Amino acid sequence: MKQILSLCLMIAGLITSACHSSGSGKSKEIVSLEGQTMGTELQVQYIDSLQRDFSHELDSILIEVNNSMSTYIPNSLISIFNRMDTAGTLEVDRHFYRVLLIAKKVHRESNGAFNPALYPLIRYWGFSGGSAPDHIDSSKVDSVLKICNFDLISGTMAVSGEGDTSYYVSKQDGRAQLDFGAIAKGYGVDAVHDLLKSRGIRSLMVDIGGEVRCSGRYTDGKAWRIGIEDPVKSTINSRKATRVISLFNKAIATSGNYRNFRIVNGRKMVHTINPANGYPEMNSLLSASIVTDDCTHADAYATSCMVLGLEDAGKLISDNPQMEGMLIYGIEEGKLEYWSSPGFQEITVKD
Ligand code: ADP
Ligand code: MG
Repeated sequence: MKQILSLCLMIAGLITSACHSSGSGKSKEIVSLEGQTMGTELQVQYIDSLQRDFSHELDSILIEVNNSMSTYIPNSLISIFNRMDTAGTLEVDRHFYRVLLIAKKVHRESNGAFNPALYPLIRYWGFSGGSAPDHIDSSKVDSVLKICNFDLISGTMAVSGEGDTSYYVSKQDGRAQLDFGAIAKGYGVDAVHDLLKSRGIRSLMVDIGGEVRCSGRYTDGKAWRIGIEDPVKSTINSRKATRVISLFNKAIATSGNYRNFRIVNGRKMVHTINPANGYPEMNSLLSASIVTDDCTHADAYATSCMVLGLEDAGKLISDNPQMEGMLIYGIEEGKLEYWSSPGFQEITVKD
């Protein structure tokens, strides 16, 4: 039931603790794994009558994903791509290519609100390893924003005569750079989920820093129940859920602006940047939770909603039949308001 929003993203992936079957009160068949990945906590639970330990395989896949897309790893593919200072092409792996394609799709569907080419600006504002400016320089923001154009970056794939597939990413301008921080955790969840499914696990829950995907049913025969963090009452040491949802063969991702921010000249600067103006986006939304079939999409849509704000985020959710969502917003100080799509209301567990 634990939901976590991470403080930072994309540090090396390692499942630190070994596999153990859980203690009393739960079915003997449940296997629980816990660890750290992508700068946050990883929790995996699955039902396996053989009590198999997949921790090494999960470790490997997460290391692979991090070595592909973590901007915190100097020799990751994304870091190499970001250091290319002229137009050119880099061969990447399937993880990178898949995330790039989904990012392009969500970029289009969100009218550009989701933009992983914002990396130079994200660093300008002090996130993703950058240091926050001591004052706001609007002409600098404008000039950095001009190079944050996702259209300058494209992906291609090629299949050789032997049937091997290669993946490439190109930039038309050496200054264009990528940050998958708003989508890669969701992809990590999907990668772990798919690996367990390929090993014959039918009932499982994967949680990386509050991005969650579930398949099958819990030991009580019901869908997995997942808590959504309360953006006001919850603290880093004491997580409080504001709603519980019942998740069957779906993923949920929550983005919030209540934990990760910087102070610039006495002003709070949140970690969601609005590509329309280059500034941290502060609107009435405190968090956006999105339910879709896979977690990569859910993660990217959740961030899109935080940029779009209450009205347009509600429209994005309502216009997409594959998506359900809940938006928590505050108009009056200290008072939370909730908007949820009809499908989200259906899966919300009533008290
Ligand atoms: P969380 O860290 O809570 O999971 P998100 O999934 O919303 O939050 O990701 C936030 C991160 O995404 C930021 O720290 C930044 O690296 C990146 N980011 C900020 N604004 C955008 C945007 N408009 N589009 C894509 N990525 C963004
Ligand atoms: Mg996100």
